Amino acid sequence: MGPVIVFLFGLIVGSFLNVCIHRIPRSESVLFPPSHCPRCSRRITWRDNIPVLSFLLLGGRCRVCREKISPRYPLVELLTAFFSIGIFLISSGPVEYLVYFIFTAALIVISFIDLQHRIVPNVISIPGIPLGFLASFFLPRITWVDSLLGILLGGGIIYLVIAVYYLFTRREGMGAGDLKLLAMIGAFLGWKGAAFSLVSGALAGSILGLALILVKGWTRRDQIPFGPFLSLGAAGFLLGGARLVDWYLSILRPV
Ligand SMILES: [Zn+2]
Repeated sequence: MGPVIVFLFGLIVGSFLNVCIHRIPRSESVLFPPSHCPRCSRRITWRDNIPVLSFLLLGGRCRVCREKISPRYPLVELLTAFFSIGIFLISSGPVEYLVYFIFTAALIVISFIDLQHRIVPNVISIPGIPLGFLASFFLPRITWVDSLLGILLGGGIIYLVIAVYYLFTRREGMGAGDLKLLAMIGAFLGWKGAAFSLVSGALAGSILGLALILVKGWTRRDQIPFGPFLSLGAAGFLLGGARLVDWYLSILRPV
């Protein structure tokens, strides 16, 4: 029963995350008014607001004005639901599940806002830093010292990368938004998690960037948002990467 319940819970939360992704960059309240079609302003009734299912039944269009609904809506709902199951499976109890589910929900909102608007919203990343630190006192897999080191390493490394990159190119590579995001990731996952997110995120980002340059004719001036890659790295660490890092460190250690 467990996985089914957390899957449905994830779908419902995902539906709310869609509201956050749409409204936070516009500085609108995420609670009022209730969901409405951005074109005809008609309020969306509960039966048209069922995660994924309504999108399929309506053929991806508003019931009233037939305006196209972005496929981002069912995508975010499914993504949230799958993360909900994944975190449920690795958690030792309800507290750990809730903390890391909230953390990944925040990463999903940040990633989709960054993809669309090229900003990491401060209203999520900044409160996320003390929240992750506070949570470390209640979680089995992280100590408060590790959380603090994660914040310092996460924020510190990106600060260094920004400074060095600017020194050589006089341009901003990563932004202050990425700095706050990686500090938040470090708060929840510790210093190893921050390092893993940065390295795997930079690797994935570089591969995609290179592909876009080769295939789509992008230039180095076209910027890829880095937030989604840091977030992917963080999720990867949470759902298995942590064990990979420990294994890697164990083979480095002299016997
Ligand atoms: Zn409409």
